[in-house]
Formats: sequence, C-alpha cells, structure tokens
Amino acid sequence: MPGLNKLLRGILKYRTNLQPHVLKQFQRVKDNPQPSSVMFSCMDSRLIITKMINQDVGDMFLVRNAGNLIPNNDSLSFDSVTTEPAALELGCVINKIRHVLVCGHSDCKAMNALYEMMDSVQKHEGTPLQIWLKRHGARTIVKYKELLQVGGVGPIKFQAETPEKVFDAYIDVDNKFKPVDKLSQVNTLQQLQNIASYPFLRDKLESGLVRMHALWIDIYTGDFYMFCRDYNRFVLVDEESYQNLLDDGESVTDY
Ligand SMILES: [Zn+2]
Repeated sequence: MPGLNKLLRGILKYRTNLQPHVLKQFQRVKDNPQPSSVMFSCMDSRLIITKMINQDVGDMFLVRNAGNLIPNNDSLSFDSVTTEPAALELGCVINKIRHVLVCGHSDCKAMNALYEMMDSVQKHEGTPLQIWLKRHGARTIVKYKELLQVGGVGPIKFQAETPEKVFDAYIDVDNKFKPVDKLSQVNTLQQLQNIASYPFLRDKLESGLVRMHALWIDIYTGDFYMFCRDYNRFVLVDEESYQNLLDDGESVTDY
C-alpha cells in the first residue's frame, strides 16, 4: 500500500531528522506550554498548516474539519455536542488563549458541496457530509445570498466579538476568484459570528481578552490573506501589510 508506506517512511525520517528537535521542544514546554492561538482550519490535505505558518511544539491548538465550520451555540445540545466548542473552551477558558483564528481556502471541496446545495440546505436529509454542511453552513448560505443581492462584492455585515461589534466586509473586490471561493471567504467570516455565539466566551470577547481573526489561503498561489477590519477586506499577508494587520488584530488586553 503506497499510502501506508509513505506514512511509515515519514515516521522513519522524523526519527532521524526531527525527533531530537521535537524532544527538546517537549522538554522546554513540558510544565508550562503557552499556546498562543486556537485555529480552526479545513481538513483539506493541501493545507499543511502548522508547517506553512512555522508553528512549533506548544504553539497552537488546531482543530480541522470539513469546511472550517464552527457550529453555532444554538445547535448545541447534550446529544449533539461537537468538538469545536469544546476546543474553544479548552483553549480560551482553561488555557487562556487570546487569539482564535479561522482559516479557509480556495478550491475547497466542502465549500463546493455546500455551494451545490445552496437551494436545498433546509432539506433535512443527506449523507453525513451533506448534513454537516447543511446544518452548520446554512448561515453561510444566507450571507452569501445577501452578497449576491448587493452585487457580489458587498459590503455585507458580520458580527464580531459582540452583537455591537459589527463590521462591513467586501469580498474579492478585484474579482480574482470563482463564486465558490467567494462563498469560502464569506464562510470563513461567518464562523467568527458562530464563535461569538458561545456564552462561555462572552465576557472574554466583550473585554477584548479574546480576539478573533479570519485567514484565507489561495491554494492556486499559496498566498495567505487575513481579514483586515480597517480595510474591510481580506488583505494579502506580506511585509507591506504585516504591521497594519498586527495593529488591526492585536488590541488585546493582557491577562
Ligand atoms: Zn476545504
């Protein structure tokens, strides 16, 4: 089986090249790991996210699923809890992490599937993937339809940390991306609102102890974009935009 062979060979390579470094890092953070972010990203195999953004042992909590969706609080019950709110609690409440990131991407297979079900999301039927996308992507579809109604660029409004903190978003102003990629950008922003729906985060979000950020990767070029609330759009992350993006996202009070 070539797949398993590649995986086992990877572990052998890790033992030779990386394990000594990882071991040192384990010892460094052993008693006091201080991860600085919780990230939700799509599970797409092309996103080797920790490698791409140079994260090391102890740096971040990472949750991956189909479509980088975070279920809204109103879909949570004892019988239907999902891992995403549990990860938010573990990260932001127990570990006091201050930055939550949602990372979407272009050519997303999950967003393709959601896009195709745009007019049937209210039909409560389908495969597990379809049900996951319909149940937790329905709000994304509502927002995307709003975007279409205002000409496909925006602005459309999203709620951020609190119901009072609303921001305008323009989507793909240069019209570089396909409709499903625009849906993916809308979806990534919608997740911020879903994160803010959890009561256990309310105080932290209101006081600025926890801030939320939206990232988006263009799979065709490998470029990272971050949503900038100053500019109301996704901005290419590069040396030029770095300081602006940092200032935009860093207004967090220290514990
Ligand atoms: Zn994806």
